[in-house]
Amino acid sequence: MYIDSHAHMFYEDYRDDLGDVLRRAEEAGVLNIVVPGTTLATSREAIVLAERYNHIYACVGFHPHEASHATESALREVEELSRHPKVVAIGEIGLDFHYDFSPRDQQLRVFEEQIRIAIRRNLPIVVHTRESIPESLALVRTLVSGDPGWRKSSPGEGTGLPAYRGVFHCFTGTAEECRQLFSMGFLVSYPGIVTFKNSPVLETLRQIGFENIMIETDSPYLAPVPLRGKRNEPSNVILVARKLAEVFSTTPEAIGNTTSSNAKMLFGIN
Ligand SMILES: [Zn+2]
Ligand SMILES: [Zn+2]
Repeated sequence: MYIDSHAHMFYEDYRDDLGDVLRRAEEAGVLNIVVPGTTLATSREAIVLAERYNHIYACVGFHPHEASHATESALREVEELSRHPKVVAIGEIGLDFHYDFSPRDQQLRVFEEQIRIAIRRNLPIVVHTRESIPESLALVRTLVSGDPGWRKSSPGEGTGLPAYRGVFHCFTGTAEECRQLFSMGFLVSYPGIVTFKNSPVLETLRQIGFENIMIETDSPYLAPVPLRGKRNEPSNVILVARKLAEVFSTTPEAIGNTTSSNAKMLFGIN
């Protein structure tokens, strides 16, 4: 069984055939789908999907591309939305210095404010970081050390299992950066990029193993080989699991079990 830990199912791309897409996911063994918002509007849409479908969960937050729209009142609304019972994280939030769609100082401010919301709400975060890994790690480290109690009372408490604080999704950092994240209670997650030819993340994966990772599609983007360039959908998370099984000389089911149990622990779903 598999969990697609990151799929934007609210986009227009699925307007005409969402039912078929979800049925294919179920047939492929995808138990749950986590849908991160990118704006206030799409955070609300993620919640609507989570209300309609039992197995879908929502995250709410402003993507770094949208940071310039994250007014004070919009961020208050994000915090309000986070009280919904199907909201499992604040996300996706972070820094994107590749596109710079919002000025960097605003991205940094909005990222920090949203981590503070997560800390107040004791929720995990879903982080997007592109060409900004050192800055993202530094900010997260500062805030974790300022609030070491964040997520200490998560579902991991008392069970001997780790209390995860978040995930860095579609993470392209080095093995050393992954280890720094693991030590702060974070997971990393990989989409279809692992199937791309000569993908540099494969070497990182070989060094870090699969104990602290999740898998995702990042639908509708990043469709795995052989569907590269097409609209992606949650059933394709199995292609990510198959590739990782090959990398680690194990079965897709073993990858599915570990990554699903990580996702359940992180998001508090069962
Ligand atoms: Zn992202
Ligand atoms: Zn995303």
